Amino acid sequence: MTENILEVKNLEVIYQSKKNIFGGLKTVHAVNDVTFSVKKGEILAIAGESGCGKSTLAKAIMKLIQTENGEIFLHGQDILKLTKKSDLKDFYKKVQMIFQNPYASLNPKMKICKILSEPLEINTNLGKKNIDKIVLEKIHSVGLSENALNLYPHEFSGGQRQRIAIARSLVLEPQIIIADEPVSALDVSIQAQIINLLKQLKDEYNLTILFISHDLGVIKYISDKIAIMYLGEIVEYGITEDIFNCPKHPYTKALLSSAPEISNETRKEKFQLIGELPSPENPPSGCKFHTRCPYAFDRCKIESPQNINISDNHICKCFLYN
Ligand code: SF4
Repeated sequence: MTENILEVKNLEVIYQSKKNIFGGLKTVHAVNDVTFSVKKGEILAIAGESGCGKSTLAKAIMKLIQTENGEIFLHGQDILKLTKKSDLKDFYKKVQMIFQNPYASLNPKMKICKILSEPLEINTNLGKKNIDKIVLEKIHSVGLSENALNLYPHEFSGGQRQRIAIARSLVLEPQIIIADEPVSALDVSIQAQIINLLKQLKDEYNLTILFISHDLGVIKYISDKIAIMYLGEIVEYGITEDIFNCPKHPYTKALLSSAPEISNETRKEKFQLIGELPSPENPPSGCKFHTRCPYAFDRCKIESPQNINISDNHICKCFLYN
């Protein structure tokens, strides 16, 4: 059985926001009691509308923001307890991130050669010859030629820049890549190329990828498993095929119904999401989805549903399955 490389348990991220113009602070649960695991070589997609907490979750796993409660294990080691500089350095070699905007994520003053070699110079004891060899291998692996190394980021298109960002994420040979909306800033014609590249690299390097996206068409194509997030919580989690063929949570069904590019059995049971995503600063009581759920009943307004095991590897948070 393949091991879990990443395990997130009961993770909570909260922040303080101003109550109103007269001051006072209120606590906002951006990520609330999130639990999931990812096996080596898997692509887990985190899906949901903007503002549901996907990117906050990614930043928490990258240790870029403070967490309130919970645990994050990488190969069994709780990374939230890492404080020593050497341990943190080791952690950032194992986990790398690809950002949404390839224009902002590359230093415009550095040539591509420097952008790719710098992480190796800082984090390893390798000599120039070995660093050059790795840089060359990685630029080729993302489909660019050696000539690219002598150019600056502004001399490339958006899709090429995202290829360079992917190459940079690979130079330290990480075990996990967190890709936060990696194609949403690109032209549709380029998106497929980058998605295929990620898939190919995943197989080539046996990578584990946390793929954050709101695009269900892309998620269906690339992921092995999906976690659907709503207002900071995972409301459904399972194997991609099961979620698309047999979604259980009303929110998942609504999301799939609203994606025109997806045709499956789900669309027989069509319904539209009512209203906007409520503000995370003022979430509804009980089940956070009850204000938009066509199946909501009295209990949903008062109590929060817990995880229900629908089958092996398929979990849903909804009273309809109690
Ligand atoms: Fe809808 Fe109630 Fe299920 Fe929440 S618990 S998704 S409100 S039926």
